[in-house]
Amino acid sequence: MPLTGIQIFKLLPKTNCKECGEPTCLAFAMKLATGKAELTLCPYISEEAKSQLAEAAAPPIRAVTIGVGDRALKVGGETVMFRHEKRFENPPAFAILISDTMDEAEIDRRLERFNQLQYERVGLTLRPELIAIKNESEDARQFAAVVTKVQQNSDGGIILMSSNPDVLAAGLKVCADRKPLIYAGTNDNLGPVADLAKEHSCPVAAKASGLEELSQLTTKLTEAGVNDIVLDSGARTVRQVFQDQVIIRNLALAKKFRPLGFPTIVFPGEMTSDPMKEAVIASMLVAKYGGIIVLSDFQGESLFPLLVERLNIYTDPQRPLATTQGIYEIGNPDENSPVLITTNFSLTYFIVSGEIESSKVPSYLLVMDTEGLSVMTAWAAGKFVADLMAPFIKKSGIEDKVKHRKLIIPGYSAAESGGLEEELPGWEIMVGPREGAHIPAYLKTWKP
Ligand code: SF4
Repeated sequence: MPLTGIQIFKLLPKTNCKECGEPTCLAFAMKLATGKAELTLCPYISEEAKSQLAEAAAPPIRAVTIGVGDRALKVGGETVMFRHEKRFENPPAFAILISDTMDEAEIDRRLERFNQLQYERVGLTLRPELIAIKNESEDARQFAAVVTKVQQNSDGGIILMSSNPDVLAAGLKVCADRKPLIYAGTNDNLGPVADLAKEHSCPVAAKASGLEELSQLTTKLTEAGVNDIVLDSGARTVRQVFQDQVIIRNLALAKKFRPLGFPTIVFPGEMTSDPMKEAVIASMLVAKYGGIIVLSDFQGESLFPLLVERLNIYTDPQRPLATTQGIYEIGNPDENSPVLITTNFSLTYFIVSGEIESSKVPSYLLVMDTEGLSVMTAWAAGKFVADLMAPFIKKSGIEDKVKHRKLIIPGYSAAESGGLEEELPGWEIMVGPREGAHIPAYLKTWKP
């Protein structure tokens, strides 16, 4: 049973030193009990208390890792129902389905789509993560052959799908070192599937027809020593799957109901045969609360919006995406190239750098750390003003890179031009456009 806030409080040092960021040990204990704080934030907890608190500190939904190395993927680990309460932790993974009855050409096409459908956005690479290999041939050798092909032709994480433990064992013989997800343990095969999961240290999905049966399965798995579990409630209608996802999250968080404290796996492709409806169902499950979303196929026009939706929902609402402060060279600039300055809000940086690039005028872009705020917000908050910009420009090293002393500032910070000329003797401050879209025309008029 998880500990209550008062029980946790009794194990804390009770000095109210505030180093954990909370005003009192009691406040910290209450946050720990609800999964909104991490044990490591208090440096004074004794080792003995730590071990007693481990269960209370564990996230109410276990984080499960699939795969190894750079491509290891974590799902679950969630602590809140709604993003604005804190943040969502681990984005749901997208998987493409490959059946072992598909012909070679179709498998190749799917692997190619999996490998190629990747997108750059705000400095991040958006891409799907998993390949679900489904045994429909009922032939272990055929299944193993497809697993081999997938393993050799992609770096994605793998889901092995079969109800037959012998088929799963054949797949594991090929790819156990990639730590695939074993799908699935059911009432009919739970013992042998649990043994496979333990033997190969792989996560396993439990599949049931309903939440009660599901919690019985996970209880048996944990009693057997298998802790990395993914949940399939068996729902294959939109209404039921939505309801189950919400109930699972709610029971795990609000009631600390451990048997359902695991990430989920869902199959929108088994709820409709229309690819667009499938994408719509998947988009619902990105928001509510799919852990792994297996799609019947990938198409760029539906995968890209799903990846962007996932990015938007799983960014930390309290921390803007930010770019590293520094000098960015765009298009091989030289000592006569223009120098522009902007803030380190990622979207601002990518818009401004993109417009400079499309102007074809090689330039230096100074990106100043404004804690991820955009130009207008940073200026209004006093973080993009002459007093702070001038020391950054002096220290940046830009004076060693250009002969001229002209600095182009964003139009929205025009009010700082006078202050900057005072702070930066010898520099001419030029007020650039307000909108990024006007940068190319502006730069065309550049003269050092
Ligand atoms: S850091 Fe530890 S001892 Fe200090 S207030 Fe927080 S919980 Fe209490």
